[in-house]
Amino acid sequence: MTGPTVLDLRCPRCGAALAGSHQDVVFWCGGCYVPHEVVGERFVERRGNVAQAALRSEKAVVYLPLWAFRVSYAMHWDDREQEALARHLPVVEWVYVTAFELHNASYFGDPGLIFTEKRVRLEAGPPVRVVGCSRSLEEAKAYVEPHLLTIIDRRVDVTGLELSSTIGDVLLWGVPYFDEGDHLRDGILGLKIPSAAVDEVAAIRVLGGAGR
Ligand SMILES: [Zn+2]
Repeated sequence: MTGPTVLDLRCPRCGAALAGSHQDVVFWCGGCYVPHEVVGERFVERRGNVAQAALRSEKAVVYLPLWAFRVSYAMHWDDREQEALARHLPVVEWVYVTAFELHNASYFGDPGLIFTEKRVRLEAGPPVRVVGCSRSLEEAKAYVEPHLLTIIDRRVDVTGLELSSTIGDVLLWGVPYFDEGDHLRDGILGLKIPSAAVDEVAAIRVLGGAGR
């Protein structure tokens, strides 16, 4: 008989205590700044970067996680006309997937999908503490093709489309969000999400409060 797995929440790399909310599956170490994902019964290191804000604000900043997948993909339609239309589509290089718990993401605007569509290129800044993620790498991968399809579908009818994609580099980004009270505004595009739609927002404010 096996008992429940109890993880020692210490960073296997540097020994610092790992803090997170109860639903986190990735813990971003505040000591060595390396994200560690719980896979089975052990920690696996992930590549993490902290994004530099492109906008300015006097508000406190919290850093929320987004997965980023470098993709290459091919689109094929039997319909030559559709295929010809698709040649003019902008090429997506990075697919972003929201890694924190956001309720009604499709209603409020899913940051991962919007960052993908706007073809955001994030610049790495100095490391800070980033809150953990509730979405695992494997769960996030399942959003790569749906995100691509959503974006392609806005320009070309995806009926009959055969999409094949491969994932190259995988990165976890800590994205700066300005805490404006009833909403959080990202420091890259300036999009607002209601604080109430972010699960565990109170814990995030404590854990991810990297200051101004
Ligand atoms: Zn560490």
